[in-house]
Amino acid sequence: MSSTVSTKDHNGGIAGLTLAQALRRHEVPCTVFERDESAEVNPAFGRDEVRGVPWINGATRKVEQSVPKSKRLRLRRDGIRRALMEGLDIKWGKRLDKIVKVEDGVRAEFTDGSNVFGDALVGADGSTSIVRKFLAPTTHELHCLPINAVGCALTMSEEQVNYFKHHVDPLYFMGTHPETDTFIFWSLLDTPTTPGEPYRAQVYFSWVASDADEELLKQPLLDVFKQKGRLFFPRMRDMVEALPEDTVITKVNLVDWPSVEWDNWDGICTLIGDAAHCMVIYRGKGVNHAIVDACQLSDTIKLAADGRMSISDAVRAYEKQMRPRAKEAVGTSRQAGHDGHCYATVDKGGSFALLGEKPV
Ligand SMILES: Cc1cc2nc3c(=O)[nH]c(=O)nc-3n(C[C@H](O)[C@H](O)[C@H](O)COP(=O)(O)OP(=O)(O)OC[C@H]3O[C@@H](n4cnc5c(N)ncnc54)[C@H](O)[C@@H]3O)c2cc1C
Repeated sequence: MSSTVSTKDHNGGIAGLTLAQALRRHEVPCTVFERDESAEVNPAFGRDEVRGVPWINGATRKVEQSVPKSKRLRLRRDGIRRALMEGLDIKWGKRLDKIVKVEDGVRAEFTDGSNVFGDALVGADGSTSIVRKFLAPTTHELHCLPINAVGCALTMSEEQVNYFKHHVDPLYFMGTHPETDTFIFWSLLDTPTTPGEPYRAQVYFSWVASDADEELLKQPLLDVFKQKGRLFFPRMRDMVEALPEDTVITKVNLVDWPSVEWDNWDGICTLIGDAAHCMVIYRGKGVNHAIVDACQLSDTIKLAADGRMSISDAVRAYEKQMRPRAKEAVGTSRQAGHDGHCYATVDKGGSFALLGEKPV
């Protein structure tokens, strides 16, 4: 079997690698085609642990609610990805351009002019999946949520990190400003190995889009970031105001794909991970679902490899398990995106979508 799955990106490619590794354990031959040139990864991305996520009042930084502990998984993804790559047949620098249904299988064509034939193909190529374009030619487009967001990575002193550690959380928090309903997410990215060196964190602000954004977003993104950030609690305001002019601010697009339906070409092509069910980030569930997809699909493929069902039935069985789970997750994540921008909703009644949990 060949699968166009994928890998790199500082936190990317989990779906494809997990599937390929599971198939390897089942002794099902599989090749990974990845557009990136190598497996270079971003160092230290967090700690291996399972924790709750505090939700704060953005003006006071008081923790008002928290996702129950042991429910959200934060992992050192670089370590996991390295482990997941072990022993795999990965073809680097292979950017998929097109897939074609041919007799007894599928042909994958790459932008370098090469192509490869496989008896089945799995698209694990992320939210802007090329494979999805061919399997769902009229419905593959992502849905853009009416939310605007800007984010950046910044350096922090040990004293600043300790302040968050003692007053909010050592690793991450989210929150909503009670007057502006702007959403904030902060998380620690890197801890220095040498004392005295700076820490690295990411901060992200999002807000419900309005007509005023047309003018706002014509400004340099650093100015936008500062305007959104300076209304938050004093420590955050001071950090944001102090950002140097060369800080790289990214505009984040909030998109999802609620359809989760495609033509699997008589059971020889399917999708996993963000390619299958891209969801917005407010519940932090994308990776969990990508891993469950990979495990469920590898299990059904194993049954096919053992001669207990056809490969087409294996693909269909996976899709039957995955679709209701994924549709629910995309919808709840979207709801969390809406709730996260309404302080009153989360504060008064709590928001199941943002703070509640359903097992994957
Ligand atoms: C800012 C942000 C924060 C997030 N935070 C969280 C979080 O806290 N928790 C969580 O669970 N999820 C989070 N997510 C979502 C999570 O990152 C994704 O759900 C997850 O990475 C999906 O994995 P994937 O393997 O399906 O896709 P990706 O990680 O996107 O991997 C796709 C792979 O396909 C490769 N590829 C793409 N196109 C081609 C092509 N044409 N040919 C060959 N290869 C190709 C890419 O190089 C990449 O390696 C976040 C996402 C964002 C953007």
